Amino acid sequence: MMGVLTAPEARIARAIGQAMFPREARGLPDGHDAHVVDYLDKLLALALPFERTQLRGLFQLFERSFMALHRQSLADADADVIAEFLRGWEESPTYSRRMIFEGLRSIYLMAWFGSDRVNAEVGVTAAPDPDAPMEFLRRVAAGVDEVRAAEEIRALPAPPRPNRFMGRPEGLFEYGDYRGDIRDNCDVVVVGSGPGGVIAALEMARAGRRVILVEAGPVARRADLSRDGGMTMTRLLWDSGMRTTRGNIIAPTMQARVLGGGTVINSAICLRATDAALESWAEDHGVEGLLGADLAPHFDAVEAFMGVRVVEDAVLGPRNRLFAEGAAAVGLQATPILRNEQGCLGSGGCLYGCRNGAKLSHDRRGVPELIEAGGRVYTSVQCDRVILRDGRAAGIEGFVVHPSTGQRSHTVRILARAVVLAAGVIATPTICQRSGLTRPAIGANLRMHPGTVVAGDFPEPVHPWSGATQGMHVLDLLPYGIKLEALWADPALMAFRMPGFGRPLKRALARYRHIATWDAWVSGDDSGGHVRQRRGAARPSIHYDLGMADLRRLQQATATLCEMFFAAGATKVYPGIHGLPPTLRGPDEVATLRTARIDVHAVPSGSNHIFGTMAMGADPDRSATASDGSVHGVDDLYVTDASLFPSTPGVNPMLTIWALAHKIGREIARRY
Ligand SMILES: Cc1cc2nc3c(=O)[nH]c(=O)nc-3n(C[C@H](O)[C@H](O)[C@H](O)COP(=O)(O)OP(=O)(O)OC[C@H]3O[C@@H](n4cnc5c(N)ncnc54)[C@H](O)[C@@H]3O)c2cc1C
Ligand code: SF4
Repeated sequence: MMGVLTAPEARIARAIGQAMFPREARGLPDGHDAHVVDYLDKLLALALPFERTQLRGLFQLFERSFMALHRQSLADADADVIAEFLRGWEESPTYSRRMIFEGLRSIYLMAWFGSDRVNAEVGVTAAPDPDAPMEFLRRVAAGVDEVRAAEEIRALPAPPRPNRFMGRPEGLFEYGDYRGDIRDNCDVVVVGSGPGGVIAALEMARAGRRVILVEAGPVARRADLSRDGGMTMTRLLWDSGMRTTRGNIIAPTMQARVLGGGTVINSAICLRATDAALESWAEDHGVEGLLGADLAPHFDAVEAFMGVRVVEDAVLGPRNRLFAEGAAAVGLQATPILRNEQGCLGSGGCLYGCRNGAKLSHDRRGVPELIEAGGRVYTSVQCDRVILRDGRAAGIEGFVVHPSTGQRSHTVRILARAVVLAAGVIATPTICQRSGLTRPAIGANLRMHPGTVVAGDFPEPVHPWSGATQGMHVLDLLPYGIKLEALWADPALMAFRMPGFGRPLKRALARYRHIATWDAWVSGDDSGGHVRQRRGAARPSIHYDLGMADLRRLQQATATLCEMFFAAGATKVYPGIHGLPPTLRGPDEVATLRTARIDVHAVPSGSNHIFGTMAMGADPDRSATASDGSVHGVDDLYVTDASLFPSTPGVNPMLTIWALAHKIGREIARRY
């Protein structure tokens, strides 16, 4: 009995599932045994209504297309015929058809990996406590077989959980607390609890200002942070994790919708913006007072407060170590990453929220201190618009929203002497646009670090799910606009790099414990776009065009990762470039990849580093905000999130957002 899928939809979903993961005499479970349809039904139930409709539309699209070709329903067709039909989509010369197929393949990968049996057979759950796999790896490395190692670890005490999980301090309000419309007032209201919002709010509260912080998402507690990537993404991300850009590429982009914003779901990599980037903000955009020396005390302060430290050697694991070996072998230097964590156990789970309480995301560091300093935090409250009176901001209006359905219940009106928007690069400009601020610079200048992932298959087990999510990176290529990193996310998400579907995909996934995944992202200097909230549209429109120079950087970065894989001992590499061989079997084959003529649709890329839609600058015609974060042309309205960056920071952005928020937050506190 399905909860959301109708009986005909379930039959179609089942038929596609058998083509994606067919039954074999030997091998990993098929779609039926992995209960993919039950999973899809649960995923649809959890998705927001708009995304649920889109997912249903996907099944209908494939059904209509199949009907037109074969005059029968997918539900009644032979699995081999369906496979042939799906191959037509996968290999289509039309980019949008290939991307639609990729969307379908991704949700089936999530559904298949939603099965405990699949995870057990692939080896993901070989360690008895998936949150503490390093002890398991140590034993296996010492020659103990995997079954015995698992038994021994089961007999050990549970791994330490070093941090408190935030209980219910006074001053933190959640969905169930709201009994009616909210009317409140304060000195400064802050919208958004990511790095930009929390650090600015904290500095103002510490200076004695009455601060209210509103966050559209809920509090995520340990029970909400499942190892199941599909469910966690659907629960913790905007647009149920299905947000993509439009433009000359369709690029997935994730933004968190949870107390703590991006800090809850990011890898905790902390790097200061390069001097070159800060100098270009000054020279090209007229930004004042934000050079390296100006920001240094703010970087120092937030690094100390957020517990930034270098990853411990003991939690690197093979995926990070092989990355370092591969880099050294091709003449690059990999260095251990600085992260905001305390007591990391190397679970590789940062992107789904740290269940060990080790990552110092803002729900653990920042929000508790804000409340201790007298701030109040309203979660599940979504700001709709800024109240504008006589050219100045006087507060915000919004709604209480249900944590999972997004349904609006009560109205919210908070009056304040100043408003700080830190709702992120997509939401901050669209809140301004809904408030009637329509200057062209608002929502323009969308910048990203477009990135891609490469997977390699090693003769020895790598257990890619073990070790710090991102423990090593290569900074040598930053001057060329390229950064390389070791990476883990979750088995379903990383499996998107393995080519194909059906039996070949199952065979590749049977070797998952031998696979390592590394990523590269590029400067994005030659690419750009904009964000617009169209009247009546359910979702903001996000336009982004990838430039040719960034495409070349992605191509070269992919080739370098492939060379590193072979140099580290991989026997097969999956570069993922459309039109070129999906599997490389030796370093000689990488040369073609470097020199091939490819177009923007060839490299599958997405980005979680986004910036620039409320860019700082001296010229109000070209920029939305001034160097002190104030919005040009409106009094008492400020921005403290990543949308301030006039161009890309050259490195992972969080630490620079913190430093800016620290500086601007202090300055606002002095003014109000
Ligand atoms: C998977 C992933 C991994 C990453 N890894 C790293 C990394 O390792 N290092 C690094 O430097 N960067 C990393 N990043 C990027 C980094 O996390 C972001 O750049 C950063 O979080 C942006 O901060 P922000 O304050 O601008 O916005 P966000 O962190 O996006 O916070 C905005 C908050 O505002 C809330 N909000 C939005 N609209 C409203 C509204 N209308 N009303 C109320 N609240 C609203 C959102 O729910 C969200 O909580 C990663 C990002 C992702 C997605
Ligand atoms: S790798 Fe990330 S999720 Fe895992 S314990 Fe360390 S900080 Fe937490």
